[in-house]
Amino acid sequence: MVVGLDHLEEPTVKCTVCKHGETSPGTLSVILERQGTTLVFREVPALVCDICGETFHEEAVTRQLLQKAEEAVRAGVEIDVRRYAVA
Ligand SMILES: [Zn+2]
Repeated sequence: MVVGLDHLEEPTVKCTVCKHGETSPGTLSVILERQGTTLVFREVPALVCDICGETFHEEAVTRQLLQKAEEAVRAGVEIDVRRYAVA
């Protein structure tokens, strides 16, 4: 009997909220509100739990959203809807 190498599977990320679900990549809209500024980011990459629906962002994504929000606050933007784009 010949034992072949198991094909490598993508590591799945367990949901840290319900502890049972597995997360899969998707996109969603994120709304940030601060100091009178409302920003809506569309098509933000995220991981979504297939059981509880909790969403997770990579740290780099979160950081970029907060940075853009701060820029908008400084620019005096009241409300803006924009598409998230990876810089
Ligand atoms: Zn979950």
